[in-house]
Amino acid sequence: MTCMRCGREADPPPRHRIGFPAPVKERILQSICAECWKEWEGVEVKVINEYRLSFLDPQHREMLQKACFDFLKLPEQA
Ligand SMILES: [Zn+2]
Repeated sequence: MTCMRCGREADPPPRHRIGFPAPVKERILQSICAECWKEWEGVEVKVINEYRLSFLDPQHREMLQKACFDFLKLPEQA
């Protein structure tokens, strides 16, 4: 696949590393390469700490998803 973020020809990230609901996960697997996903994982930790996000809070999960899409330059919703 060609990564939508960096434009490189590369493999998608490992499926189990993407902790988003199925439709979001599928979009990421189709558009984002493993390298870009790794970059996001680094940023994700900072976002979670900075905003004290909890995976148990649906609103927080939504915020995290939005931050992820912003970072990966994916359109908000298909
Ligand atoms: Zn990429």
